[in-house]
Amino acid sequence: GDTAPQAKRTRTTCGYCGVGCSLDVLTADGDVIAVLPGHDGPVNRGHACVKGRFAHGFLRSPERLTQPLVRRAGRLEPVSWREALDHAARGLRAAVAAGGPDAVAAISSARATNEENYLLQKFMRVVIGTNSVDNCSRLCHAPSAAGLTQTFGLSGGTDSFDDVERADCLLLVGANPAEAHPVVGARLLQRVLRGARLVVADPRSVGLARYADVHLRPRPGTNVALFHGLAHVLLAEGLIDEEFLRRRAAGLPELTALLADYSPERAAAITGVPAGDLVAAARLFGRAEKPAIVYGLGVTEHLHGTDGVRTLSNLAILRGAVGTGRGFGVNPLRGQNNVQGASDMGALPDLLPGYGKVTDPAARSRAEQVWGTPVPPRPGLRIPEMFAAARSGELRALWIVGEDVCATDPDSTHVIEALDACPLVVCNELFLSETARRADVVFPVASWLEKEGTFVNFDRRFQRVRAALGPAGAARTDFEVIHALAAALGSGLGCPTPAEALAECARLVPAFAGLSHERLDREGAVPWPCPDPARPGEAALYRDRFATPDGLAQLSAAPYLPPGEQPDDRYPLVLVTGRRWAHYNSGGMTRRTDNLRLDSVDRLDLHPADAARYGLRDGDRVEVESRHGRACLVARVSDDMSPGQVFCAFHFPASGVNTLTSDRADTVTSCPEYKVTAVRLATP
Ligand code: SF4
Repeated sequence: GDTAPQAKRTRTTCGYCGVGCSLDVLTADGDVIAVLPGHDGPVNRGHACVKGRFAHGFLRSPERLTQPLVRRAGRLEPVSWREALDHAARGLRAAVAAGGPDAVAAISSARATNEENYLLQKFMRVVIGTNSVDNCSRLCHAPSAAGLTQTFGLSGGTDSFDDVERADCLLLVGANPAEAHPVVGARLLQRVLRGARLVVADPRSVGLARYADVHLRPRPGTNVALFHGLAHVLLAEGLIDEEFLRRRAAGLPELTALLADYSPERAAAITGVPAGDLVAAARLFGRAEKPAIVYGLGVTEHLHGTDGVRTLSNLAILRGAVGTGRGFGVNPLRGQNNVQGASDMGALPDLLPGYGKVTDPAARSRAEQVWGTPVPPRPGLRIPEMFAAARSGELRALWIVGEDVCATDPDSTHVIEALDACPLVVCNELFLSETARRADVVFPVASWLEKEGTFVNFDRRFQRVRAALGPAGAARTDFEVIHALAAALGSGLGCPTPAEALAECARLVPAFAGLSHERLDREGAVPWPCPDPARPGEAALYRDRFATPDGLAQLSAAPYLPPGEQPDDRYPLVLVTGRRWAHYNSGGMTRRTDNLRLDSVDRLDLHPADAARYGLRDGDRVEVESRHGRACLVARVSDDMSPGQVFCAFHFPASGVNTLTSDRADTVTSCPEYKVTAVRLATP
């Protein structure tokens, strides 16, 4: 007879990028046999990329953490869960006794489900009594949340990707979806091949740039001048929707006055983009019936990233291409699977679940009614402030859930100093990451293929995450660990299951009131806002009014300000960091899969003229030095680069890329200026 094992099929949502592909995971005998793209997935429609489909071998990696660890006499040793939880609880009590609740902080992440993010922020506010909880959006799309909220009223992208896909002109800015969001990249390409016009604004010749009608290559750090130059042309040539501006926007006189200073020639002088290209791009966008904006971290990770989001949004407002029901909007490509959800759930130091301000008594009172305990009124620390407080001795305990901060946060030399100075560092991790190595307690946890919950993707859709397998060894879900640590401190958090946690959040946040696991199991994907269980969520926002206090879209007249770092004689090149197609962020998961064979080292892309200047050839080792640190990479000579600019990813912590980046950050949100670091090269 047939003795082949019967495969189990589990529908879940990809745990890598923010596209949110539906995947069918086939398992047998406790292992993954295959991962198939969900043929009816609302975003992926039968497609998946090399990460979601093939990067699952990390699950059974021999390096997987299967038992809790506690540092004793300088070494991490395996212990029981009871010992690890007691050790962490003692440390937390000691920190509060020495410095009060604000001596404790937590960093959450997109590795955690919505329910885990909700529970962690509740733990910090209810059990510890501090608002010092933040998440990895601080390092990527915090300027989107701030900029979109100031402009339109809500933190998410304005439209569904299905609307974006109907656009007849796409303005793709600071994003390389062909590598970082491949399924979206492919859908955008299909749209272009079927006739949509494409304007790409990116210093590099990213994958889709070769299909662009116009490719604008601004100097890194000059986005605001570029967007003002485009807006200047829209105004000067009458390519604006006057009726829309009259009825639904505020700030036009101030913006018009400012734009007088941003002629195409002046914008060209600042950005390095030829004035003729700038005019051509503005005309394509301005004459399209359905122009849509899609952007990525090339807009946000700057000293003035929030201004970048706001002044990019100006273009959609001037054209009346947002909030009309026929609009195509302003749409951020979220880098991580659940970075939108982590913020939606209130894992933020100034905002509660659903974005109520902790300083607002009414917002606190709503949370207090549901949680039955007072919420502290003072905003907590942002991630960079946590590291500074640890170095100064004010922060005495830090709990990090799913972030390898020593590999991914900027100026990592100072991050490591902060962890070394902090009396208690607790990590929830899959592997002994750069961060976990420095922790005092390490809790081994389940991956996205081993737990239940939900994620929110880049166009605000809630989707279910389901366990295809049980956790490795004695690992537990983050959800279980948060409950267990609360219990070890003698407290309870309620909502014992992920479904009950989402139900509690839905009682607290009107925009989520119509959401439940049961509904998501039935319907697949539901976007927020979704206030009513009997009605669909809102895929396209702001049909009648914007969610700003006056109901109007707010044009921004922020002037261009230069980036924090400039190249000079000592550091003549500008480094931009980003992602490559086979790997994901610090590479903690993808490096432990067969994807390692596709890409096994961090490379430095540089223009042939720069390669010749430094005597470098493909494959040569090259030392990169900034004012902050030094990294060792492998040269890749590429016409995709502009002279004077170099690019690398940060998938291999051993190369030390984030020792190079500075602690300069967006002046509004503290999002790091990853996209502009002055460097020089040397051959080792
Ligand atoms: Fe889809 Fe992104 Fe996962 Fe690739 S990494 S399968 S594009 S969600």
